[in-house]
Amino acid sequence: MSDATDTHCPYCALQCGMGLRRTGDGPVPVAVVERPDFPVNRGALCGKGASAAAVLSPGARLTTPLVRVAGELRPATWSEALERIAGELSGTAERYGRDAVGVFGGGGLTNEKAYLLGKFARVVLRTSAIDYNGRFCMSSAAAGGIRAFGLDRGLPFPVADIPSAGCVILVGGNPAETMPPFVRYLTELRENGGRLIVVDPRRTRTAELADLHLAPRPGTDLALALGLLHLVVAEGRTDEEFIAARTSGWEETRAAAMAHWPEHVEAVTGVPLPQLRDAVRMFCDAETGMVLTARGPEQQAKGTDTVSAWINLCLATGNAGRPYAGYGCLTGQGNGQGGREHGQKADQLPGYRKLDDPAARAHVAAVWGVDPRSLPGPGRSAYELLDSLGREVRALLLMGSNPVVSAPDSARIADRLRGLDFLAVCDVVLSETAELADVVLPVTQWAEETGTMTNLEGRVILRRRAVDPPEGVRSDLEVLNGLAGLFGHGEGFETEPEKVFEELRRASAGGPADYAGISYERIAAEEGVHWPCPSADHPGTPRLFLDRFATPDGRARFTAVQHRPAAEEPDGEYPVRLTTGRVLAQYQSGAQTRRVEALNAAAPGAFVELHPSLAERLGVRDGDRVAVVSRRGRTVTPARLTAAIRPDTVFMPFHWPGEANANLHTNPALDPVSRMPEFKACAVRLERA
Ligand code: SF4
Repeated sequence: MSDATDTHCPYCALQCGMGLRRTGDGPVPVAVVERPDFPVNRGALCGKGASAAAVLSPGARLTTPLVRVAGELRPATWSEALERIAGELSGTAERYGRDAVGVFGGGGLTNEKAYLLGKFARVVLRTSAIDYNGRFCMSSAAAGGIRAFGLDRGLPFPVADIPSAGCVILVGGNPAETMPPFVRYLTELRENGGRLIVVDPRRTRTAELADLHLAPRPGTDLALALGLLHLVVAEGRTDEEFIAARTSGWEETRAAAMAHWPEHVEAVTGVPLPQLRDAVRMFCDAETGMVLTARGPEQQAKGTDTVSAWINLCLATGNAGRPYAGYGCLTGQGNGQGGREHGQKADQLPGYRKLDDPAARAHVAAVWGVDPRSLPGPGRSAYELLDSLGREVRALLLMGSNPVVSAPDSARIADRLRGLDFLAVCDVVLSETAELADVVLPVTQWAEETGTMTNLEGRVILRRRAVDPPEGVRSDLEVLNGLAGLFGHGEGFETEPEKVFEELRRASAGGPADYAGISYERIAAEEGVHWPCPSADHPGTPRLFLDRFATPDGRARFTAVQHRPAAEEPDGEYPVRLTTGRVLAQYQSGAQTRRVEALNAAAPGAFVELHPSLAERLGVRDGDRVAVVSRRGRTVTPARLTAAIRPDTVFMPFHWPGEANANLHTNPALDPVSRMPEFKACAVRLERA
């Protein structure tokens, strides 16, 4: 029997299983070991997961609260810090009204933290001003999934189903760098005779694995999907029986697709027509097909319609609601799935219930022991909330996020944060956002605490505490308990994760994301349980929609959508498209991975990737320092020349702050449905620095 503590990686949505074995009492008292029995990654880990123990190193770790006095952050006691926060938040509410106090959460928080943070906002602060950084990650896929299927779960099937599909179209995702153990499902797919089509403006490591790589201009994935659907119809490859039996809205969608001529789609996307035809043939020849989207098509000001266009392709070809077929989203953040289900989203209550649904309000209010009329209504989306700081929202409590690096138009958001009357940040280190705070609370992280996460396939898993936290830090749950107590709400804010989860189960019962039958005990015994799981004797639901979709009539809904250009197209002043993404050795805003020596050595800083033909026009050589200039900012980073990117597009990773921060450029134009900003396409010019 292993002496390691079974747990999961601190990073991405695959939530790979791993063990933490005690190695002594040194500064990092555990080592990561493989856990081959966990079915999702079967022991495999990427470099980030394998080196994860290093994030426990004392290094830059905060171990005492900090309070700003005379312009400087100075050590303070916990009671001083908590009392200052409670005083500032209540004073702000008294002066400006409850909605002037905001709460901002994160997609990396455990389910228990996300749940309690939402409850704190609605029961203690009674503010509508709460949202979280997951809005920037998955909201378009969620909105598209709900629109079509009546329910959003990243993958409505287990990842283990992927190798049994006949053809997979992966749109705007690069798991070979973002979640490498996932790649085995793609290689197994091809070993089984299945085909892989990758859609990406760059020939990424994932695109290298594909049978066919389509490289559209950033921001044109919607047109591409419409062109493919046009060809499916024109070539008589629709599944009429499926359309008639299990869908609604086909005629309008068919008409919209037929208005997008493939030649026009070729001109808009830059993808040659023969490649479009090849893609349709591959997808339709297969017995079953899947479309998987990631941030590329989703992080657009038309992200929801883009997701709908790809779902339409699945529905028209009969690829939904049956095994080894369907649409799914590869969620990004560690708890990108669970983080959106339990109430830190501006418009939702626990169990993925809608905040404006009277029955949902009554159910959750009963669990919380409050009058449903006391619960605030829906609030602003993440970007709108951040953009209102210092104006409508005057004080903010922030947990599990680093928007100074990760928000779009990040210089503007940093200014907004500076304009607040009061900012409190809970974090492990003094992140770029914590540096701006009036109070910083040092909190526990990952292996120092227990809690559940929900991975990209809706599997609820358990991270276990493996080491003691450093002296002086408290858990986020203890922070919320302490603050709630100062507001006179000590009851109902448990600090034990399992007790919080028991309450979450009750609050989610009967909702779309029903966790009522999931317990810590079951998760341990079954290597996770897929929601919905309404009772202790229910087996959980690895595959959704096999009998019916979650719409009122049980049918999946087509949505007729139209292509439209990116909110900011290249012009004479800013002639090049910029797209952003991640690299293998860093994760999100880098607050965790930039602290790990091995990862920093592998990926020490930002760069701008450009095609040699564009570089030649600009007189730029590989390694030259290049200024990227947009309407919103200026970055200076080394140039990296590669023929693997479109000549009209440049790419920057977004893990670094300061003059290397790619988000200085990204465009906060919002999707009208999901309120997702357009991270993936904006216009820039390049200059030699
Ligand atoms: Fe961790 Fe994701 Fe890497 Fe797995 S793929 S080890 S969850 S970062």
